[in-house]
Amino acid sequence: MAKIWANSGDSHLVEPQDLFTANLPADLADRMPRAVKDPDGEWETVFVDGESFRRKLPKIEQVMATMARPEDAVDDPIIRAPGANDPTLRLKDLDEEGIWAEVIYPSLGIWAFNIKDPLLLREGVRVLNDWALDFQNHSSRYICCASVPLLDVNDAVAEIERAASCGFHAGFLPVRPPFGRPPWQDPEWDPMWAAFAETGLVIGFHIGTEPHKPDERTGVYHRGRGGAVLNYVETTYGGQRAVCQLIACGALDRHPDLRVLVSEGGATWGPFIADRMDEAYRQHGAAVRPKLSKLPSRYLYEQVYASFQHDRSAVAAAAAMGWKNVLWGSDYPHYEGTFGHTQKVLHELFDDVSPDLRQRITVGAFEELFPHVPPAPEGEPREPTP
Ligand code: MN
Repeated sequence: MAKIWANSGDSHLVEPQDLFTANLPADLADRMPRAVKDPDGEWETVFVDGESFRRKLPKIEQVMATMARPEDAVDDPIIRAPGANDPTLRLKDLDEEGIWAEVIYPSLGIWAFNIKDPLLLREGVRVLNDWALDFQNHSSRYICCASVPLLDVNDAVAEIERAASCGFHAGFLPVRPPFGRPPWQDPEWDPMWAAFAETGLVIGFHIGTEPHKPDERTGVYHRGRGGAVLNYVETTYGGQRAVCQLIACGALDRHPDLRVLVSEGGATWGPFIADRMDEAYRQHGAAVRPKLSKLPSRYLYEQVYASFQHDRSAVAAAAAMGWKNVLWGSDYPHYEGTFGHTQKVLHELFDDVSPDLRQRITVGAFEELFPHVPPAPEGEPREPTP
């Protein structure tokens, strides 16, 4: 079988354990996010800014069962891939899998949205971003997302401008603002949308990143019967809501160059949400404010992109429903992702799809967001280049 090369709209890096202690004064470093596993490896506790919460880890056997080469699994269910936190080894992983360029989100950085102290957040985010930039500088195939301090919109704008000036092409936002901050449609955030638009940074919303209440288990919305499936499905709604908020408040109308990527949440929801927003805009027109220059669906079809990893129906969103901004994502190195079976997934998804559509979903939509990335190889013969 010929190798299918694909760009990934959803990948992660894993920050080193000593990142904050090595780069911040002790009183700040102590309060930055830190994950500590139980001795039996079944649970871990995440400590952030004086609070902590627990989360259950997948069993390593479950992780290995999904891998084509289980011997490659590292003994850590979260990191799991040999090159997860090594920018040189990572290229080897990617070349084997057939993954070309990647949008790369933080790992520890996701917990930073639970920080309550604006100074701690501002300083901590700078450290996260400086490290991510260093990682990005190893290869033109890496597009690391800058984290954004969201407790003060002026801090957010300043860090977006700093990130753009030092070489970032994307910024990472949680699907919901930190607790106590207004929702994304609130005018308070307007300067931040303007900063994204003016700097050209793509906004990357990664699903499942809602800041949570202290001592709450992260990602747990349902318990008991059906909980695992219900919780996983629940994670997808936050990205859809964030997109609706940006469209309904007019942010995408005011900034036609602003581009938004929703990672890991599938893609078939796009056309459905677009129809739903149009219906609201027309049928409830008397109550709608602000008025937009186009129907809401147009912003979604033109300025919003979404990545999926396994969903068979996502291809149809581009093929049959006309949303061309569907792109694939590996979720490397996470256990929901395709590491170890990427080629199997890509062939199952795209063997029966026309070459043009396959090109669009695996490569083209990504290149539209990040035109500076070197073109992906085609098939096996061409040697991957760094
Ligand atoms: Mn992901």
